[in-house]
Amino acid sequence: MPKQPANPEPAHPDVDSMLSRKFGKEVANYFSGSPLNRLAFLRADNVFLSQALKHSSTSFLLCNELQPLVQANTPPGAGKLAYVKYEDIKPVIGENPYAQTEKEIIEAYNSDVYVPQMIFLGIDEKDKNGLEYQGKNKYMGAPYFAIDVTPRNSVKEACEKLIEAQKAKGLDFSKGRVMDVVAQDAAVYAEARQLLDWNVRNPFCASCGQPTMSVNAGFKRTCPPTDKSTKRISNALPSTTEQVVDQSARPPCVTRNGVSNLSFPRTDPTVIMAVVNSAGDKILLGRQRRWPPYWFSTLAGFAEPAESIEEAVRREVYEEAGVLLGRVVIHSTQPWPYPANLMIGAIGQAIPTGETIDLGNDPELDDARWFDFEEVRNALAVGTSGLGEDAPAGYKEGGLRLPPNTAIANQLMTAVVNGFASGESKI
Ligand SMILES: [Zn+2]
Repeated sequence: MPKQPANPEPAHPDVDSMLSRKFGKEVANYFSGSPLNRLAFLRADNVFLSQALKHSSTSFLLCNELQPLVQANTPPGAGKLAYVKYEDIKPVIGENPYAQTEKEIIEAYNSDVYVPQMIFLGIDEKDKNGLEYQGKNKYMGAPYFAIDVTPRNSVKEACEKLIEAQKAKGLDFSKGRVMDVVAQDAAVYAEARQLLDWNVRNPFCASCGQPTMSVNAGFKRTCPPTDKSTKRISNALPSTTEQVVDQSARPPCVTRNGVSNLSFPRTDPTVIMAVVNSAGDKILLGRQRRWPPYWFSTLAGFAEPAESIEEAVRREVYEEAGVLLGRVVIHSTQPWPYPANLMIGAIGQAIPTGETIDLGNDPELDDARWFDFEEVRNALAVGTSGLGEDAPAGYKEGGLRLPPNTAIANQLMTAVVNGFASGESKI
C-alpha cells in the first residue's frame, strides 16, 4: 500500500506568536520546508564557493535528466536523497570551477567549452562539522550543491562512469515525479530541479539570441560581451591597420546595459482554491477527463499578467465552473518544481446569486459539483492517494476520491472542513 510522506513542520511552531493566535497555525506544504540556509548573498563570492566545494562536510546531489540519486530500499513515503563527495565529481567538474572571480569567468567565456551545470543550494547549519566561513559575518554549516550529470558533450564519459559507480553501490536515480521522499529532502530536490531545469531551458539570450552562461552559482544567466570560441573568431572580420577588431567581441545586446545584464530563474504563480458555497456547508470540486473514476480536486489555474491572486481565483472559478466568488483569502502556498510553479492556495466563498455550476464557458473540466463537507471529510479519511495509485484500504467503490496530503488541494479541503472558513476553528 503506497504511503505518502508527512508534510514539513512550519517554522518555529512552538514559539508563541500573535499571528498564530489570530490566523491559526501556519501550514507548510510538501516541497517547502528546506533545512538549508541558501546564503543568496554569497553566490558571487568565489572564495566562499571554492571552500564550500572542497570541504569534508559538503554533499553533492547528482541529477541525471533531472532525476535525483536516491537511497536504496527505503520504506514507502520515507525515501531519502543520496549524496556524493567532491572526489566523486572531480572528474566531471574539474579541480575547481570557482577558481576565478565571476568577472574573470565572464571575460574568459568560450561557448565551445561545455560546463556541467552546478547549483549552490545552501548550507545545513545543524551540521556542527560544517564549513566555517568568515565573510561580513561568520557562516557555519555543511554545504550542499546540485550537479547535472546527464551524460553529454565533453563530460559524457565522466558522467557515465560516475553514474555506473553509484549503481555499483546499489543506488539509482528516482523515476517519475519525486513524491515519495521525506519532506526535507523533497524541498532540497525542488530547489535543485527547478534551477537545473531553468538553466537547461535557457541556453540563449532572450534579447539577442546568442549563447548565455550560468553565473551566481546557478541562479542567474548572463549574455557575455565576448566569446573566445574558435568557431566565432574564424568567422570574424580580419583586423585592418586602421581598425583593431576584438575578434572575440560579440554583437551588442540590450541586456548588457545597467542591471539588466542578467536573466533570473522564473517562478510561475498558479492559483488553487477551495471554494465554499454561500451557506458555508459545501465545497466546489472539479474533475478532469483523464482522472480515475470518482476522483475530484479543487480548481486551479495560472495567474495571468496584471491581476491579483484574488482576481485570478475569481476568474478561474468563473471560467471553469461558472461560479461567482466574493471574498477570497490566501491559505498557504506550495513550491511545485514541475517545472517552475508556485501554487498559491486560496479559499473563496461564492456569492448567493452565483452558485449555479456552468461548464460551458471553458471546456477544461469534465465535471464540477458541490460536495457536502461530510462527504469530503469522509473522503479525506478513506479516499486519498497519489493520482496513479490504487484507492487506499477502507475505500468503497463509488465513493469520492481525493489527492493525497502532499498536495496543497488536500490541505485546502482539510482546512475548510475543519472550519477554517467559518472561523469555528483555525486549523
Ligand atoms: Zn544578449
